[in-house]
Amino acid sequence: MDAFRQIPSVDHLLTHALTGELIASFGREWTANAIRDVLAEYREELRAGITVASDETLISRTAARLSSQAALFPVQIINATGVVLHTNLGRAPLSIQARMAVASAANGYSNLEYELGQGKRGSRNTQVESLLTRLTGAEAALVVNNNSGAVLLALTALARRKKVAVARSQLVEIGGGFRVPDVLRESGARLVEIGTTNRVHLRDYQQALEEGAQLLMLTHHSNFKIVGFTAEPNFKELSVLAKSAGVPLLFDQGSGALLDTASWGLPHEITVQEALQAGVDLVCFSGDKLLGGPQAGIIAGKKALVDKLRTHALYRALRPDKLCLAALSATLLHYLKAEAEVCVPVYQMLGRQEDALREQALNWQQELGVGNLIPGRSTIGGGSLPEETLPTWLLALETRGPQKLLARLRACQPAIIARVEDKRVVFDPRTILPDEDQYLLAGIRTALAQFKE
Ligand SMILES: *Cc1c(COP(=O)(O)O)cnc(C)c1O
Repeated sequence: MDAFRQIPSVDHLLTHALTGELIASFGREWTANAIRDVLAEYREELRAGITVASDETLISRTAARLSSQAALFPVQIINATGVVLHTNLGRAPLSIQARMAVASAANGYSNLEYELGQGKRGSRNTQVESLLTRLTGAEAALVVNNNSGAVLLALTALARRKKVAVARSQLVEIGGGFRVPDVLRESGARLVEIGTTNRVHLRDYQQALEEGAQLLMLTHHSNFKIVGFTAEPNFKELSVLAKSAGVPLLFDQGSGALLDTASWGLPHEITVQEALQAGVDLVCFSGDKLLGGPQAGIIAGKKALVDKLRTHALYRALRPDKLCLAALSATLLHYLKAEAEVCVPVYQMLGRQEDALREQALNWQQELGVGNLIPGRSTIGGGSLPEETLPTWLLALETRGPQKLLARLRACQPAIIARVEDKRVVFDPRTILPDEDQYLLAGIRTALAQFKE
């Protein structure tokens, strides 16, 4: 019980010489709150019979607490998992030009909604729309802050209280809470399920139209595959059908692929341009998947439909901010200049050849003097190209405590995210950016050194 009586007061710790620096950095109130939290925890410890802590220990706990509360977020980390589009790790890394564009737009004021030529109010969408229509062949385009928002806006503006036909095989859940049936319900549209889990035919759509469907919606199987006895009608047939019935055909393409993924040894993912050429009226896609830009949702297609979305009240709630638009327009410019393959990090990574990857992993092994080189697979991830992988080479570290090593790597500055394969911790060079090798090696050295202690 004595220990409890000796617990210092908040005021006592607040006036301690060592606390002065904390107050100077974080302010009196924030520091006092942190001390209160630390003391509450300390009381629990005493109750559990853990030993008495000195004032200095309590203050250093307070300092640790404050600096973690004040940490900037999100911060750069090193992705050694080989998952190119890792949703938990922020999906696509931006190109140098896109990063510079963000910095420039963030610096002071910008012409976000201002026509410099005319000296009057402008639209935040004009510039990206012009890039997007040029790139995709769409009549019009609109940007919102993510693809879920794009689909929600399209359905709300075009199909509220109307029947929307969706194949059962396409009632997908994309992770992060995006479920086609839920988004449909939120939009106020009425879902008409057609076909079966594995097969849907043109005649199913035909029948839905006869029964009053006023929009046909297609969703890309972004994160799973249906194999075996399957069927889905092609886009051309469907678009002819939709046109003859006078209803819009909407396609949630997801990945934002603008280039032919077959050029990277992957299956061909239908591109935005191809969908539009096949007669789809509106295509929705993400900015930060295979497009390789910032988080954004893009809607491209028929002008009359895009105009309905643009003037809908929901657009105001979903509109993108200036930093997103800066990064997106810089990314789209890479495609227009036909330099996306070399400038957009996602494509740089997909394009890395096995021998170069092997050489990089070999170099790590030589620098560190530990580990083995093993062949492995990098994953595309991020709701694109389900199950698809590319061959790579991994540096594999044998350890008795792989999870412990992973935790130590995560505690590095910058944090390193690796993965475990057959009880070994493996590092994939594919997703390591050119200037990150030194941090990766320093981090592995530190983590291994702690391991030996
Ligand atoms: C990823 C994805 C979404 C969600 O997009 P976000 O940009 O993450 O909101 C929706 N539909 C499909 C088909 C997707 O692949």
